[in-house]
Formats: sequence, C-alpha cells, structure tokens
Amino acid sequence: MSSGQHTLIFDNGVTDIADLVIGADGARSCIRSLVSSAMPQYCGVTIVEIQFIFVDDRHPEIAKLNQIRVYITLRAPENWIVESGIAFDQPEQARKDLLRLFADWDNSLLNFIHFCDANFIPRPLYTLPTNHRWETHPGVILLGDAAHLMSPFAGEGVNLAMLDATKLALAITNADDLKQAIHNYEQKIFPRAAKAAEESSSNLDLFISTGNAGKIAAEFFKKLMESGPPKDTEI
Ligand SMILES: Cc1cc2nc3c(=O)[nH]c(=O)nc-3n(C[C@H](O)[C@H](O)[C@H](O)COP(=O)(O)OP(=O)(O)OC[C@H]3O[C@@H](n4cnc5c(N)ncnc54)[C@H](O)[C@@H]3O)c2cc1C
Repeated sequence: MSSGQHTLIFDNGVTDIADLVIGADGARSCIRSLVSSAMPQYCGVTIVEIQFIFVDDRHPEIAKLNQIRVYITLRAPENWIVESGIAFDQPEQARKDLLRLFADWDNSLLNFIHFCDANFIPRPLYTLPTNHRWETHPGVILLGDAAHLMSPFAGEGVNLAMLDATKLALAITNADDLKQAIHNYEQKIFPRAAKAAEESSSNLDLFISTGNAGKIAAEFFKKLMESGPPKDTEI
C-alpha cells in the first residue's frame, strides 16, 4: 500500500493490515523478496546431522537434558542427497552407506556413525552474499537468517538473530517515525552480519579442506578459547 502498510493474507483466510512486517522467517524467507532480489546460494558443503540421546545410564536425569549432535560434513554437489544414492529415508541402510563412504577413516570416528541414533538428516548449506544489503523499504524489515543467511562455521547465526531483535526493538523505541527506525536498524545490523558472514566463509574454507584441516581447526579453536569472549558486544 502507498502508506507503507502491507496487507497480510494468511492461509486460514484471515487478513490484516500491518504498519511493519518483520521477515523473521529464516533461510527460505518469503518476505525477503519484498526488499531484496538476493537468493541463497549453495556453498558447496553438505552436512549429515546425527545425534545421540540418553548417552549416560549412570545419570539418566542429567542425560535426559542433554544430547550429542554431530555433523558429518563434506564438500559435495548441491544434489548430492539424491546423487549419492544414500537411503536417508531408511536409516539402517543409510548407516551402512555412510560407513562405506568413509571406509578409510579411523574407527574412533566411524563409531559416531556406528552408534548414533537411527536418524540421518542431510542438510545442504546455503548462504546469502556476505555483504547482503538492501535499500530501506517502508513497512518491511528482515531479521536473522532472512537478512543474513550464512553457513554455520562462525557459530553466529543465533547470536545475530537475537541481537537483530534487540536492535530492532531499540530502534523503534528510540526513533520518532517508523521509516527512520527501520533505516537506523538496518545500518546497525549490516556491518556486524557482514563480518560474521566473512568469518563463516573463511572458516568453511579452512575446516573443509584437503590437507591438514584437522590440525588447522584444532589451532583455530585453541586460539578462540585463549582469546576470551568477543569484545564487540555493543548493542
Ligand atoms: C546445521 C546447522 C548448524 C548450525 N549451528 C549453529 C550454531 O552452532 N550456532 C549458531 O549461532 N547458529 C547455528 N546455526 C544457524 C542458526 O540455526 C540460524 O542462524 C538461526 O536459527 C536463525 O534464526 P532465525 O530465527 O532467523 O531463523 P529460524 O531459526 O530458521 O526460524 C525461522 C522460523 O520461521 C518459520 N517460518 C518460515 N516461513 C514461515 C511462514 N511462511 N509462516 C510462518 N512461519 C514461517 C520457520 O518455521 C522457523 O520456525 C546452524 C545452522 C545449521 C543449518
């Protein structure tokens, strides 16, 4: 609508008019296309998520609150889930197929595949451009993965989404009009998201590489632990 308001039409037939539509609808955001033509691109890496629930019989009450989640990560074509022929919908067969795929890996690592719960979830990873930005659009903003989808190698996705929400609330509280609030919010989130996206992209190259990836990753985490919490936590 010319006023910057938007009419929302829900699947159940309800309609509403909103002053501000917040696109917090994740990687496959349908709100994103209202402000940006950027589309998520496959980043060349697919993970297979596996997990272990109730790993400790000695302390079942504590074990119940915890699970171990492991990502089997590999460079693969975008349609690898189908092309690989791995029967992800038949978990015990998928277990055998994955053990065959990684047959030359050490048994200590193969045990993750041997003993995990019978549920293998393949997830191709997608990313938006590292410096994804858009012009301020009245009445619509993006938040979280909808705004800055990146591979999980910076471990920042959830932090950014929560920080975005806080920044948006503050921008709305502190500005005189909504258009200015939206603009202020976007200028705040763009630089931090771009920094995390670049970090995520270079970490992906570092960790999922041929050669000495294991040693490089170990050194990376050692440095991370030694450096303490990030300094740029300003809201
Ligand atoms: C394998 C993997 C590992 C990760 N590991 C980490 C990690 O260790 N640390 C970290 O910080 N981040 C990690 N991330 C990233 C993190 O999960 C995301 O950055 C974060 O969940 C983004 O939050 P969000 O609220 O923007 O999106 P989401 O968590 O995707 O939430 C969006 C919500 O919108 C809903 N939705 C979508 N469309 C509609 C619609 N049309 N109508 C109604 N609802 C809709 C969805 O159902 C969903 O509930 C990981 C991601 C992946 C894929």
